[in-house]
Amino acid sequence: MKNTVVMKFGGTSVGSSDRISAVAKKIAKYIKEKNEQVVVVVSAMTGETDRLVELCRKVSGSKYSQREYHQLLSSGEQVSAALTAMALLREGVQAKSLLAHQVRIRTKHVYGTELIMAIDKNIIEENIKSGIVPIVAGFQGVDEFNNYTTLGRGGSDTTAVALAATLDSVPCIIFTDVDGVYTALPSICKQAKKLRYLTYEEMLELASSGAKVLQARSVHLAHKYKVPLWVRSSFSDDYGTEIVKEYKDMEDAVVSGITCRTDQVKITLRDIPDTPGTLARIFSVIGEAGIVVDMIVQTKGLGGITSLSFTVNEESGDKTFETLSMLVKQEMNKARIEIDKNIAKLSVVGEGMRTHAGVASKMFEILGREGINIDMVTTSEIKISVAIDQKYAELAVRSLHEHFIEF
Ligand code: ADP
Ligand code: ASP
Ligand code: MG
Repeated sequence: MKNTVVMKFGGTSVGSSDRISAVAKKIAKYIKEKNEQVVVVVSAMTGETDRLVELCRKVSGSKYSQREYHQLLSSGEQVSAALTAMALLREGVQAKSLLAHQVRIRTKHVYGTELIMAIDKNIIEENIKSGIVPIVAGFQGVDEFNNYTTLGRGGSDTTAVALAATLDSVPCIIFTDVDGVYTALPSICKQAKKLRYLTYEEMLELASSGAKVLQARSVHLAHKYKVPLWVRSSFSDDYGTEIVKEYKDMEDAVVSGITCRTDQVKITLRDIPDTPGTLARIFSVIGEAGIVVDMIVQTKGLGGITSLSFTVNEESGDKTFETLSMLVKQEMNKARIEIDKNIAKLSVVGEGMRTHAGVASKMFEILGREGINIDMVTTSEIKISVAIDQKYAELAVRSLHEHFIEF
């Protein structure tokens, strides 16, 4: 669709009636000045999804119906979509809120997450042709039985990018409560700088390593479908951060960002048999249970035994422990399982690592100087991640930032 843009407004941006009115004014101004068609995606009002999760826990305890959980959680976006449409109507702009079943956002359960399979773009196009701005409820999907599903926390970003991709890869602007992507989380690193550009790959690594400013899946989709993507503030007119395919400047910074996540746990299996097929057996059992594993380290042992550590998201921690306990009991009765909930995963990310050596050694040296022990290490072409004790997380981010970014 030519001359069309998808604009997504996050929880804080639609967090009160005043904020919703301000967002409506911003959209109305954009339409008037740019003469472009706008498709809007909104998140639930800030705190609403957390409130619904808490209500579910209070009413159901730890075991609850998955169907009702998603029916409940998806309701937050229904409220903000209708309110945003009302606010736009008040601005004299024709608008209509649309829920997942009305736009036919079909999802499928794959490896523990809901993935978007298809969106019916005709409904969006029909509304636009009739001069109506579609206000799509983010985060929601519907499965093959017409039950509501949700796209994981932060999933409205993925709704927005998926819509932009469906509309022939039109641009997508993610409006949020910060004026772009920063070199580190601004609330823990005062020296963090706003980045003007980032590549899709850097953004994907940052998002999957803890920079929740974008949901990682949205970045993956944007890259795959070549959706032009920006992160901007809904509170200002700042240009924000543009996500690009590659940098135009020949020489870019070696490290673009530093992230930290504290929502993983470390599982250690000690005294497991050091034989071919043991690791395959352990990870196939974990995979069958729908548990996603992140960092893995094996320590070579003596006398035919070895130990293994890996990280999983904290909500999978207990399930992993139970799954492995059964395996150990049945097949590896000498093994012991430990769970460490106090870890932080610290990552440095940058395209420049493709061509510059020595980032890992410098990172380890800085952490060593601060007396921070490294538990595990993983790398990709443009990222180095380490697991450390959670209590040093903020100190580590600041020290690495000082060396790699502020120098
Ligand atoms: P929204 O409700 O708009 O989707 P989110 O809370 O999901 O907003 O994402 C924005 C938040 O992401 C920021 O307020 C900030 O706390 C956090 N954040 C984490 N890492 C970064 C980063 N590197 N740059 C900017 N913001 C970041
Ligand atoms: N409301 C959902 C959440 O809080 C989705 C989103 O905000 O993107 O996770
Ligand atoms: Mg978000």
